Amino acid sequence: MPKPVILTLDDDASVLNTIARDLRSHYGQDYRIVPIESGKAALDYIKKMQQRNETIALFLVDQRMPEINGVEFLQEGIQAYPQAKRVLLTAYADTQAAIDSINEVGLDYYLLKPWHPPEERLYPVLDELLEDWRVHVRLPYEGIRIAGTLWSLPSHQAKDFLTRHQIPYQWLDIEKDSNARQLVESINSEVTKLPVIFFPDGTTLLQPDLKELAEKVGLQTRAALPFYDIVVVGSGPAGLAAAVYAGSEGYRCLVIERAAPGGQAGSSPKIENYLGFPTGISGDDLARRAVSQAKRFGVEILSAQEAKRVFVKDAYRIIQLADGTEISCHALLIATGASFHTLKMPGAAELTGAGIYYGAAYTEAMNYKDQDVFVAGGANSAAQGALYLSQFARKVRVLIRGKQLTASKYLIDALEQNQKIELLRNTDLVEVRGKNTLEQIIVKNTATDQVQTFDVSAMFVFIGVRPQSQLIADLVKRSDKGYIYTGTDLIVDKKPPQGWTLERDPFLLETSIPGIFAAGDVRYGTSHRVASAVGEGAIAFALMKEYLKAL
Ligand SMILES: Cc1cc2nc3c(=O)[nH]c(=O)nc-3n(C[C@H](O)[C@H](O)[C@H](O)COP(=O)(O)OP(=O)(O)OC[C@H]3O[C@@H](n4cnc5c(N)ncnc54)[C@H](O)[C@@H]3O)c2cc1C
Repeated sequence: MPKPVILTLDDDASVLNTIARDLRSHYGQDYRIVPIESGKAALDYIKKMQQRNETIALFLVDQRMPEINGVEFLQEGIQAYPQAKRVLLTAYADTQAAIDSINEVGLDYYLLKPWHPPEERLYPVLDELLEDWRVHVRLPYEGIRIAGTLWSLPSHQAKDFLTRHQIPYQWLDIEKDSNARQLVESINSEVTKLPVIFFPDGTTLLQPDLKELAEKVGLQTRAALPFYDIVVVGSGPAGLAAAVYAGSEGYRCLVIERAAPGGQAGSSPKIENYLGFPTGISGDDLARRAVSQAKRFGVEILSAQEAKRVFVKDAYRIIQLADGTEISCHALLIATGASFHTLKMPGAAELTGAGIYYGAAYTEAMNYKDQDVFVAGGANSAAQGALYLSQFARKVRVLIRGKQLTASKYLIDALEQNQKIELLRNTDLVEVRGKNTLEQIIVKNTATDQVQTFDVSAMFVFIGVRPQSQLIADLVKRSDKGYIYTGTDLIVDKKPPQGWTLERDPFLLETSIPGIFAAGDVRYGTSHRVASAVGEGAIAFALMKEYLKAL
């Protein structure tokens, strides 16, 4: 934590030097003394201090200055630092101005020049004020601060990215906090680009993409080598499990992740049916443990890097990243999982991140404290989302298309017992409305045809998962829905798939291209559970090892 500042202002250089010397000798150990000669320069300096999130404990300001006098300066300075103590340095002739300013700027004290000896006429006064400041001050947050609005999608994405990496930050809503707005305006006067992210080293990023943000917070975004024995695309449970085994057996292994480790499981507030955690474990905790385990075994994990395309060249499997970089390997695991369907109705795309969220209950829940929210979906993920949101929201209504929830029994029981949760069965979402943020939704009961309109602050969507297999669509065989076929699913009439070049049949989790494997939710026939994904990841590694041995 940087030292709090005592800012002293006087246009007379020799007076300024003397006061700075006296302040340093008595307060230099605990405070940074900043002497400045003009009010304008001091106001500019204050803006920079705000960006660096430094704090001012005391203003000690000369009253009689050209351009901006002491009281005028304090009027502005205390807008930025309302908790700072305010002392005017005055000549006898300015006494009345000082008295008038007691109410105007909440002046704490006025000192008459000269203040010598300081032991009698300066330090006792300032000691008392600084003591009082220390007792009452709320020191500024030291870490990363994200300033934006609830309706800005890039603000939501930045928050979600840091949350998923368990990097703490402070959220500043510029629509509710005028100081935060001022701070943003000092960087970006039109407030056209949000969020503005302030870092403790005083630097800022303006609406960064995730890769820029990842680099700034020290995450790895570039591979250290051009070639690996094993590359895994996707760092959900399947990818991380394979990586832990690959690393532990000494293979050079790289994991490529377009967002943050943990995948869908990472967005679960509480996984209660994973073996070995009888009281449940949050998805981000599970992901954090798996990431440190993989890294301990020397696995590299890239964040905010999307694998765009895969192609084959002789014995090499080559992955092209969104930034054009190519990385090659001998064995490749596609563990890209699945993601939720996005709503196709008019207006939904514009309101994404502005009240409509896909599986993001974790990141945004606290912003909807004491408000009414909706959850769309009736499976485990939706049920967990609703239960988590009910800790903050006033009311959570769950839209279920069918007659029954499809979630596990323990979750259905918890939903039904929760007073804040209302289950709307046989209910279709018909329309979403809102100008800048979601304001209303219209739903229809399919059994009675009754249409209802609800005022709503947010809707969290957990419907229809879709496999994320586009990157390999033109290479391997997939089902109509895009799930990747592996092993025996590729054998038709006892024959391997067309173009298969090896004597043997594809291994259990091998795709229609030798050396390319698939595991977890992206694979045809999987069971969409954390444990199955982990198990498949482990088996995929064992099979990749077999494959590598035969090369
Ligand atoms: C909210 C929620 C709660 C859940 N709760 C439970 C539960 O309690 N118990 C349970 O057993 N299951 C639960 N599930 C299901 C479980 O999380 C999934 O079955 C599991 O995460 C699947 O793991 P995976 O590794 O196959 O894929 P995913 O977890 O989907 O991970 C895939 C990863 O690949 C990345 N990726 C995708 N495409 C690319 C690309 N082109 N380049 C780079 N990276 C890419 C994604 O960003 C993602 O991180 C829950 C799911 C959700 C959404």
